[in-house]
Amino acid sequence: MTELAQRLSAIDAQIADAARAAGRDAGEITRIVVTKFHPAQLVRELHALGVRDVGENRQQELTAKHGELELDGLRWHFIGQAQTNKAGAIRRSADAVHSVDRVKIADALHRASENDDDVLDVLVQVNLTEDLGRGGVAPADAEQLAEHILTLPSLRLRGVMGVAPLDEDPASAFARLRAISDGIRRVALDATWISAGMTGDFAEAIAAGATHLRIGSAITGPRPDRG
Ligand SMILES: *Cc1c(COP(=O)(O)O)cnc(C)c1O
Repeated sequence: MTELAQRLSAIDAQIADAARAAGRDAGEITRIVVTKFHPAQLVRELHALGVRDVGENRQQELTAKHGELELDGLRWHFIGQAQTNKAGAIRRSADAVHSVDRVKIADALHRASENDDDVLDVLVQVNLTEDLGRGGVAPADAEQLAEHILTLPSLRLRGVMGVAPLDEDPASAFARLRAISDGIRRVALDATWISAGMTGDFAEAIAAGATHLRIGSAITGPRPDRG
């Protein structure tokens, strides 16, 4: 087994353990492998190991890898800060955008839709930190943003996304995200995704109800320099 295969199966075993501990079915949890800064070849290797969901946080890198690779059944998740002038490029390469955090980016993604059948999965990214400059809508404004997204027919609201702050117990941050998810699901019944949990805190995220984990370095190994 390659080191990559070993790391992947070790993390999957930990996901299964955490799900069991939380009384949840691991089959309802999607493990997204975050491949940012790694070459397209790594995505190819992951795909050969059965990975079907990968995450990227920069539009140019997403566009380049998506253009280079044609891999059966592979889904691309965009998890980075989205700029309105890049909305079309993001939309053409991503199957899901986790980082919708303001009306402007939702509108730009909607305007970039190619035809009536083109529907993009999106999540409302919630800022779980005290720092307003970080990505994500303020918790108090999340529901209003969700309601706006529901008015845009080319976007399908799937749920919420959050990153736990470094200076807080992730369990309490994820509990806030869960509460926001509960509120949004009252107005959008099928917005059931909770995208939470990274290398350092995916077990806590699973305990808090995460449906989509975004795990990078624990699987890929350390990221190469950004250059
Ligand atoms: C990089 C990144 C991850 C993965 O981080 P790791 O700590 O390497 O698992 C998850 N979510 C977002 C938004 C990221 O940018």
